[in-house]
Amino acid sequence: SAKENGKNTYNFYDLSMNDSLFERVQLENELRKALDRGEFFLVYQPQVELATGKVVGVEALIRWQHSSKGLISPAEFIPLAEETGMIVPIGEWALRTACTLARRWSHSEVGPLRMSVNLSSRQFVSPHFAESVERIVRETGMSPELLDLEITESMTMDVSRSIETLRQLKTLGVSISIDDFGTGYSSLSYLKSFPVDRLKIDQSFVRQMHSETKDRSIVATIISLAHNLNLQVVAEGVETLSQSEFLAQHGCDEMQGYYISKPLKAYDIETFITARLAR
Ligand code: C2E
Ligand code: MG
Ligand code: MG
Ligand code: MG
Repeated sequence: SAKENGKNTYNFYDLSMNDSLFERVQLENELRKALDRGEFFLVYQPQVELATGKVVGVEALIRWQHSSKGLISPAEFIPLAEETGMIVPIGEWALRTACTLARRWSHSEVGPLRMSVNLSSRQFVSPHFAESVERIVRETGMSPELLDLEITESMTMDVSRSIETLRQLKTLGVSISIDDFGTGYSSLSYLKSFPVDRLKIDQSFVRQMHSETKDRSIVATIISLAHNLNLQVVAEGVETLSQSEFLAQHGCDEMQGYYISKPLKAYDIETFITARLAR
């Protein structure tokens, strides 16, 4: 291959490879500076109770406003932040920012709302993670019952350690959701031993519900699985009325998706929520 031929091989393929490596290193350096430069911000997507139409919570989603490249999606930089360990300070920043806003809402006309924050595995397994959550909750003055932490099935591979961390978090009073539920490869037995509160049905199942019988069955099954285990269930990626009707018929607790609203900046989500309250 071109790689085995060594450095003398100089062709288009190699060039593009070097190019992307260079870009990657550059992005990595910029990622390190982005926190200090204040280039990250959070957007918030409302989560609505299906039975009442009430906004009961929001999910905080990170964005990177890069000085020259523009807006960079988390799908692009979270993996890089994970590999470099930068996710730990970035994740702390996100948690602190979300908690600060949640605390402010509790004392405003928006009212107390559940604030869901995504975790990545590097954060979750970092030593003293629960203590850092406790510190942030205390320092921001947020009521811990309003904080929800989203983990994924793949983060819980080290079962006994995960249970320990989850127990510590539960002791603080925060709730735990399993994000992208149904796409990981963990067995169902962990649901029995993991102290979690909520399952979030992955949007890949919700997206095709109109055309795929199997997806409808999977969604309906996750809803009953959750309820039989005394867990709440939230559907992600809801884009249409008919999807929301199917979910309501099957007793899904909450939904989130473009059908309700795309993720919005803090000011716009406040306007969205107060306008909905006034209806
Ligand atoms: P996620 O946690 O599963 O978030 C849901 C993603 O679906 C978000 O993408 C959201 O904007 C998008 N979405 C919401 N409603 C709809 C819909 O109706 N249709 C479609 N097609 N998409 C919808 P986003 O914001 O690009 O985030 C992607 C992923 O990046 C997140 O998936 C999460 O895993 C990760 N992420 C985002 N923010 C953070 C963060 O602060 N920390 C960590 N560790 N990960 C984050
Ligand atoms: Mg999420
Ligand atoms: Mg998800
Ligand atoms: Mg996810």
